[in-house]
Amino acid sequence: MSGFSFNLLKITDPRFRLGKIIFSRNKHEKILDTPNCFVYTIRGSVPHLTPDNLQTIPADAFGITLEHFLEVQPPSSTYFMGGIHKFLNLEEYPLFFDVRDSEKLQNISFGTDKYVPVVTSHGCRKVTLEEYIRYMNIYNPDIFASMTDLITVKNPGLKRVKKSVDRTLNWLDETLEHTKEGIQVFGVVTGYDKHEERERSAKETANRNVAGFVLNGFDLDMTSKERLDLMKISLKYLPRNKPRGIDIFNTSYPSDMTSLGHALTFLLIEDGIQHRREKFINLWDDKYRTDFKPILDECKCYTCQNHKRAYIHHLLKTHEMLATVLLMSHNLFHYLQFFKTIRKSINLNTFTNTAIQFINMYGSDDNDASNT
Ligand SMILES: [Zn+2]
Repeated sequence: MSGFSFNLLKITDPRFRLGKIIFSRNKHEKILDTPNCFVYTIRGSVPHLTPDNLQTIPADAFGITLEHFLEVQPPSSTYFMGGIHKFLNLEEYPLFFDVRDSEKLQNISFGTDKYVPVVTSHGCRKVTLEEYIRYMNIYNPDIFASMTDLITVKNPGLKRVKKSVDRTLNWLDETLEHTKEGIQVFGVVTGYDKHEERERSAKETANRNVAGFVLNGFDLDMTSKERLDLMKISLKYLPRNKPRGIDIFNTSYPSDMTSLGHALTFLLIEDGIQHRREKFINLWDDKYRTDFKPILDECKCYTCQNHKRAYIHHLLKTHEMLATVLLMSHNLFHYLQFFKTIRKSINLNTFTNTAIQFINMYGSDDNDASNT
């Protein structure tokens, strides 16, 4: 038997909410305190890290993308009847599935009412709704996002956005009807920059029996203010007693920073003194050649406890794989610490710069949901 519940523990400043998601499966409970992250994976593994490295990271849950499994169809993993947790050796964690990797969304041809196109390392493939639901019923993840008609062209017209909202809602209805009991479905709220469509998508999705919501339909070219305004429209119509986009994020950012040779250094804890620090440092820079400090003095990650900036710089310069392993160990640890700090801030009502930074990164929540 499996179960799922979301407890909204605290709303302090209108912009912050603290919650707890409880997953139960085979009499085991897994708890995800929110705001939190689904750790970003590629083909089910965390970029730059091995399962051994992962032991040092306080990861709570993982996000998996079907797109990465579709080189051959059906994917070999669907022949394994023990479920996706066992297949990926992530049995201890809640797993969230989506069709496409929205962080690395590539512009490909339009889908139809029957399928969405996906990009694999062997070229483009199609995945139908029927296939997606069948795979999810075999994989048995804790949660998956219903299939979405994503638009990958710039500035889509109203007609195209309407079609995207309609398809996404129709697919959600089919999904809710055919998904095995015990697997939670998150509805995807879209609508791009068309306010009335964003409102319709949110209202209609909220009317369905979904466990939570994914906020989608943001263009990477949008300014954070534009994103924020659109997010507010969506959130206004979503019930506050379900997880909804602003509660769970992903960790593609630390992965991308690692690929660039950057180490995250933004401030986590306020000391009452308004001091500035770089958000990240670029360890490729020759100035780190003789820098024998850890990335961050106060960081408790494996890398900062054991290695110096100069060593990582040397590993980068010599194209040693260990460079990105050490960098990712720090970056992911630091990023997850950031969310831990945010939770603490909300709990203690201390609105530090860290919390403000959080709003600036991700947007805020009006908490004026009309249907609660
Ligand atoms: Zn560190």
